[in-house]
Amino acid sequence: MSYTKEGVKQEMLDNKVEFILLEFTDMLGYTKNVELPIEEMDSILDNEAMFDSSSISGFSDIQESDMYLVPDLNTFKILPNKIDEDRTARFICDIYTPDGTPFEGDPRQILKRAVQKAEDMGYSVNVGPEPEFFLFKLCEDGYPIRQRNDRGGYFDASPKDKGDKVRRDIVRVLKDFGFEMEANHHEVAQGQHEINFRFDDLLTTADNIQTFKNVVKDVASNHDFHATFMPKPIAGANGSGMHAHLSLFKDGESAFADENAEDGISQTMKHFMAGILHHASGISAITNPSVNSYKRLVPGYEAPVSVAWSHSNRSCMIRVPSTRGKGTRFEVRNPDPTANPYLALAVLIHAGLEGIRQELDPGAAETRNLYEVVDETVPTLPTNLKEAVHALSKDSVLMNALGDHTSSIFIEEKLAEWTEYSLQVSQWEIDHYMNH
Ligand code: GLU
Ligand code: MG
Ligand code: MG
Repeated sequence: MSYTKEGVKQEMLDNKVEFILLEFTDMLGYTKNVELPIEEMDSILDNEAMFDSSSISGFSDIQESDMYLVPDLNTFKILPNKIDEDRTARFICDIYTPDGTPFEGDPRQILKRAVQKAEDMGYSVNVGPEPEFFLFKLCEDGYPIRQRNDRGGYFDASPKDKGDKVRRDIVRVLKDFGFEMEANHHEVAQGQHEINFRFDDLLTTADNIQTFKNVVKDVASNHDFHATFMPKPIAGANGSGMHAHLSLFKDGESAFADENAEDGISQTMKHFMAGILHHASGISAITNPSVNSYKRLVPGYEAPVSVAWSHSNRSCMIRVPSTRGKGTRFEVRNPDPTANPYLALAVLIHAGLEGIRQELDPGAAETRNLYEVVDETVPTLPTNLKEAVHALSKDSVLMNALGDHTSSIFIEEKLAEWTEYSLQVSQWEIDHYMNH
C-alpha cells in the first residue's frame, strides 16, 4: 500500500486514532517502540520525533545519542488487535541522525543497502520466511514455565493439537494487518507450531517477520500461553528454524529458472547459492546469533549441519524445492528466528550477489543424508557462536554488508555473550563430573 502524508493523516482522523506507535528494530532483533498521543501527529509526520538511543542495543554511544524516528508511510496500520480498546496507529520507522542522514547502524538501513546492491546489478529479490515457534504454559504470576501446551506432533489434529485456536486467532489478526496467509499446522515437536505467510520483497518481508513475531506473542498471551522463538528450548526435540525461500528476478522474469538446463536451474541461481555456501560460517553469526542457536544445528532434527545444497535433503544448508519456472527458488535452512531479519537477509543477499559476481560454483547437488554419512570433504556449519563470530570477523564481504558501526558492536557483544555463557556450570556437567 502506498500512502501520502495527507492520506495517513486523514485516515487517522477518520478512525479517531488516539495513539501513534513508532516501531523500529535494535541490533539484536528486538522490536522497540515508543508511543505518542495523536496531538503529535504533525510533528511525527514532519520527521521531528526525536529519541534517546543510548540504551538501544547496537545504536550510539552516550555523546551522540539523539536520533530521529522517520515513519515509513507504507507501513502505516491501524492496529487490528487494539481496535476495540485503544485506537492506535503504528508506523515502522527508519532511524536518522540529527544531521538528517540515515543512521548507518539502523538494521533497516543495512537491509536497504543490500536491496540497492541487488538493484545496481539489475536484480530484485523475493523472500518467503518460515518462522517456527513453541507455546509454553504460564505460571500463576504470568511468567512462562517449561511445560508445553500439548503433546501433538507433525500435522496432528485437535484435540492432540491444542494450538489450533491460538493459530487461528493469529491468522485472523495477521489478515487484518494485510498479510496474505498460507498454511498453518502443528509442527514435529510437542507444543511446536508453524504459520506461513506469503513471500514478498526483502524489506516488506523483514518488516512482516517483526510484525508476525509480535502478533504471535500477543495473541498467545491472550490465550494464557507464552510463545517463544528460541531455537532449541527442549533438548532432544526438534528446534525452531526460520527457513528463507529466496528467488531472484531480472526485468520481471525469474533469474533462477532456465528451461534449457537439465535441472531447470540457471547458472545465476547456482552462483548465488555458491556465494551463500562460500560465506556460510560468517553468515551463521547473523542468521544463528545466539548460544542456543547451535544446539539446534545438530544431526537428527531436520535442521542443517552441512554446508552443501540438495534437492530434498534436510541435512544441507540449502534445499531446492521441485517447483520450476517463475517459482524456481531455494530454501536456506540454517536461519533461526532469533536472527535480526534485516541483518540476516542483508548478509544472505550480499553473499549471494558476490557469488554471481565471482561466478562461484556450488558443485553437484548432495544426494546423501549427511546426518548419517561422515565425509570430511563436506564442510559443516559452525558448532558454536564463538566459531561463527570469528568467521564473521574474517569475512570482508559480510563485514562490509553490515558496515563498520554494526559489525564492530555486533562482534564485541556476541563474544561477550559467549564468554558469559562459558562461565556457567550446567546441570549436565554436574551430572557427568560430580563423581570424579
Ligand atoms: N524444525 C526444523 C528446523 O529446525 C524444520 C522442520 C521443517 O522442515 O519444517 O529447521
Ligand atoms: Mg517447519
Ligand atoms: Mg521449510
